[in-house]
Amino acid sequence: MPLQLNLSVPTNQIADMTVEYVQIPSEQGSMGVLQNHAPLRAALEPGILSARDMEQKTHYFFVSSGLVMVDDNIVTVLADSAERAEDIDEGRAKGSGDRARERIQSPGPDLNRSRAEAALARSIARISAKHKTGSSH
Ligand code: ATP
Repeated sequence: MPLQLNLSVPTNQIADMTVEYVQIPSEQGSMGVLQNHAPLRAALEPGILSARDMEQKTHYFFVSSGLVMVDDNIVTVLADSAERAEDIDEGRAKGSGDRARERIQSPGPDLNRSRAEAALARSIARISAKHKTGSSH
């Protein structure tokens, strides 16, 4: 059975495709999955998910935190938010990163540092996912 990638966010399915190889950012590090991978569950970490299809084309996605499950040649990724790289608004990601940096550099009394750091990590990952497509402008 070929390997299937199913990437969703709570409101939407972002990808449902047959793939040869998927690389997923997890809390244990970047995780490569090929056909007939052993069953696993892992925590997803904000970063770039790449999926190589049967025509050897690599598709890039931004994923935030969430859950990854591999079972029976189905890779299920449930992310809090995710976008296809080509759908990423780079200006918005830059704006979000600038706001987070500003909060971290000039912390106010109500700064939630881990929240600001998470927003910054999302911004950086979105910008690099966008650049992976070679179509950023
Ligand atoms: P922002 O501060 O710009 O909202 P964020 O990292 O806080 O960024 P998320 O909470 O991860 O945003 O996502 C909220 C929603 O907006 C999701 O549906 C996500 O897919 C979408 N989204 C966020 N940033 C971008 C972006 N740069 N390009 C396209 N969609 C985005």
